[in-house]
Amino acid sequence: MSSIIFGPVHSRRFGKSLGIDLSPSKKQCNFDCLYCELDPAKTMDHYEDVVSIEEVMEALKKALAEHPDIDFITLTANGEPTLYPYLSELIDEIDKIKGDTKTLILSNAATIDELKVQETLLKLDEVKLSLDCATQTCLKKLDRAHSGIDVEQIKEGMLAFKSKYKGALVVEILIVKTLNDKPEEIAKLNEYLLKLQPTRIDMGTIDRPPAYDVKPVSYEELYALSKQFDTSLPLYIASRKKSEARASNYTNEEILETLSMRPLTHEDIEVLFDEESQKRVEKLLNKENLKIIESNGVKFYVLA
Ligand code: SF4
Repeated sequence: MSSIIFGPVHSRRFGKSLGIDLSPSKKQCNFDCLYCELDPAKTMDHYEDVVSIEEVMEALKKALAEHPDIDFITLTANGEPTLYPYLSELIDEIDKIKGDTKTLILSNAATIDELKVQETLLKLDEVKLSLDCATQTCLKKLDRAHSGIDVEQIKEGMLAFKSKYKGALVVEILIVKTLNDKPEEIAKLNEYLLKLQPTRIDMGTIDRPPAYDVKPVSYEELYALSKQFDTSLPLYIASRKKSEARASNYTNEEILETLSMRPLTHEDIEVLFDEESQKRVEKLLNKENLKIIESNGVKFYVLA
């Protein structure tokens, strides 16, 4: 059995966070995604191995005593955390001791159509839901969902949840080469996300060795795909593939043209623009041709 608590993990977005693994014994998931970093496993709709709330809280209290300056407590699993049967009660227990620390869950969204799951997630400060596919064919092929899981129900469930939720709802899309990178699939995702209006969309690709033989897309391909989404959507390219991309020289006009098609983060600018072009961006910012807007901790450069 691996340990229930992992971290602290440092990140620009979440500061210092501690993770809770609600399925430390084995993979327990209602998906068996082709890109999963865990070994392939049969899907399930409930946990077979369940850790007790007491075990989780004991481990969490110990970790918090060692690391009192934690910014986020992240609920996650070797699998899907919303399948943990005592999730609601566990969050109540965490709330009693967390103080100013924020809570977050990383879920594949397959259960978000259940009222009980929606009510449970409403208690969290931040919710991150995956949505790789907007069609059932894609969901079956890429996420290999447990029988009975329907993408239309997931989409309805997310909309219902969003209408009640006051915290930050981030949608994560993982792009896999030839599986969900086709214009028809992206168009359907775009159409749905315009309805959902999440706080932010994180789009990435495979960064770690996948369970099955599937391939990531390059940063350039992610960037090209990002342009197929409506410019009003706060889309952030979240991928380590950035480090492989090569920067180019952009004139002032090209910078403005690029930003008219898609808001870019500081990271995108560092990846796409060479040093000279980055200085041009700063000048355009000073001359107020550009401005910076912030969306849930991520800064975007946009036309002023
Ligand atoms: S939802 Fe997450 S844990 Fe489950 S199969 Fe997909 S990637 Fe793996």
